[in-house]
Amino acid sequence: MTNPIRSEIDFDADGRHAGYLRLPHSVHRSAYGWLPIPVGSVRNGAGPVVLLMAGNHGDEYEGQVLVSQLLREIEPQWVRGQLIFLPMANFPAAEAGQRTSPLDGGNLNRSFPGNPQGTPTEVIADYIENTLLARAQYLVDLHSGGSSLLYHGANMLAIEPEDEAQNERLRALLSAFGLPRAFLHPANRVHSSTAARRQGALSIVTELGGGGIVQPALLREARQGLLHLLGAIGVLTGPLVPERAPGETHFFRVSGAAHYVYAYERGVYEPLVALGDQVQAGQAAARIHFPDTPLREPVTVAFASAGEVVCQRAFAAVQRGDCLFHLAEPDNG
Ligand SMILES: [Zn+2]
Repeated sequence: MTNPIRSEIDFDADGRHAGYLRLPHSVHRSAYGWLPIPVGSVRNGAGPVVLLMAGNHGDEYEGQVLVSQLLREIEPQWVRGQLIFLPMANFPAAEAGQRTSPLDGGNLNRSFPGNPQGTPTEVIADYIENTLLARAQYLVDLHSGGSSLLYHGANMLAIEPEDEAQNERLRALLSAFGLPRAFLHPANRVHSSTAARRQGALSIVTELGGGGIVQPALLREARQGLLHLLGAIGVLTGPLVPERAPGETHFFRVSGAAHYVYAYERGVYEPLVALGDQVQAGQAAARIHFPDTPLREPVTVAFASAGEVVCQRAFAAVQRGDCLFHLAEPDNG
């Protein structure tokens, strides 16, 4: 099964190129139309290939700005190998400013390995995994908290390496990126980072701020880190590469259900801790208030394990099943 997406740019051509990945999309207002997914390439001969991706979730903006900026700024003569730029990976979602695609409800980062005969989101996932990641050795997938979450500053996320050599390589890359915190997660087959692993590529995901806005300080930090990483990989030289990474990286583990706190009532949530706080198991995390039943006392929600508060819900209105906080524990391994 071949993927129906046709690229306007030739990924084997040297130099800087930009255009669209054309995803055929036949609808009432456009019978023979296609969805324009922006794509770019800066290539200069043989060398490492890095896919720089953002807009996997459409309401996460720092990466969309950064990937577009670097496509304009990086001169081909500074590159050894290739940088592929995908600033609005799930284009329909990014165009709408939503986490998921308004066309099919698809969450791209829950859609890998995708399906070339599926919905638009599934077709995009298949193209990223089997066409773009198939030629890359590295993936940088720039996420933020999105509309509904706030992360504590600038963070990186990576899946747990399979063996010791991979582990060391991945940790060196994360340290070269140099954002303050790196969260190690178990692999999840539907995520982009696992798609990268299936294609033999190493991946780093960022989680920057959130709340559906662009925070200039986080944009700067992510830019410096990414440029230093590209220098460390050897795909980029020249004036943009900073001499050192933004800072020291501390490693954390996010291992499962006990690190997450959920609402179990519909209401208004009042956080009782702040991002960056160290908490203990059993400690109160939030109160949920019921202004529609004003005589009802608020319900307190507690943390199930100890750790550092790295992420909280941005919206105060909550329903049963909404994530309020997530924790990370320092990795001593
Ligand atoms: Zn995301």
